[in-house]
Amino acid sequence: MTVLILGGTGEARALARVLHNNALDFESSLAGRVRNPALPVGQVRIGGFGGVGGLADHLRSTAVRAVVDATHPFAAGISANAAEACHRTGVPLLRLQRPGWRDETGTWVWVDDHDEAAVAAAAGSSVFLSTGRQTLGRFLDPLAAHRTLVRVVEPLDHDVPPQWTVVLARGPYTLDGERNLLRANAVDTLVTKDSGGALTRAKLDAAAELGVRVIVVRRPPVPEGVRTVGSVTEAAEWLREIGPADPARTRMP
Ligand code: NAP
Repeated sequence: MTVLILGGTGEARALARVLHNNALDFESSLAGRVRNPALPVGQVRIGGFGGVGGLADHLRSTAVRAVVDATHPFAAGISANAAEACHRTGVPLLRLQRPGWRDETGTWVWVDDHDEAAVAAAAGSSVFLSTGRQTLGRFLDPLAAHRTLVRVVEPLDHDVPPQWTVVLARGPYTLDGERNLLRANAVDTLVTKDSGGALTRAKLDAAAELGVRVIVVRRPPVPEGVRTVGSVTEAAEWLREIGPADPARTRMP
């Protein structure tokens, strides 16, 4: 029996490393959204399961003993599917989610979704959108006439308004680099989602230094009743608590 890690994050890769080092049986799952994903150690499957039913079938057919949903805080679809599939199959589920960012300036504008973020951003004149490719459509109309810098990992498959500039980049980002980017583009408004973590935090520190207005999209809620931890250590501890299905293969301390 094996552990299924729903991945696509640094935490998922770190957990895979811990399980690998402890000789536990596990499989990581990636959605297959990016062309050259950072791969975790160990066995990896790539691609959707085909909704809740497909994921439940996968849990049964591969004898999954526990699922750790270590997907991105904004990957609400797969988290909801995992909660329902685990409920149906009786497989224990843990949500591993890095803590959100804290506003040390007390000035961030918190919004509930990307539509609200777009309305708030339209009050600026030079906007940096770092909310990712998937939700870009929400900003197209409200910011059509704004000078807008968009940073995405993968190339876009649609046109953007002529005032927009698209840069392709993948974190981690440095404070120096982010400061330069904000300055070079005369950014007065930064839009981000509350991804949390250190890898993409520098833009917030640069924005604080330069007095750039920050709009942050709140995280979607974790599905009700799903136990949640904020660190890889706690996730490994949970797997130890629920017990291995195959003690002969397990050497976790
Ligand atoms: P999503 O909207 O929650 O999921 C949409 C569909 O993609 C799911 O229903 C599932 O398809 C498939 N899927 C998602 N994660 C999967 C995984 N780990 N393994 C297998 N199938 C998966 O997800 P998303 O926001 O598009 O994110 C996709 C992946 O990128 C996630 O794994 C996430 O960790 C990573 N990621 C997301 C963000 C973000 O901002 N959303 C940022 C960084 C990384 P089926 O229904 O067919 O099973």
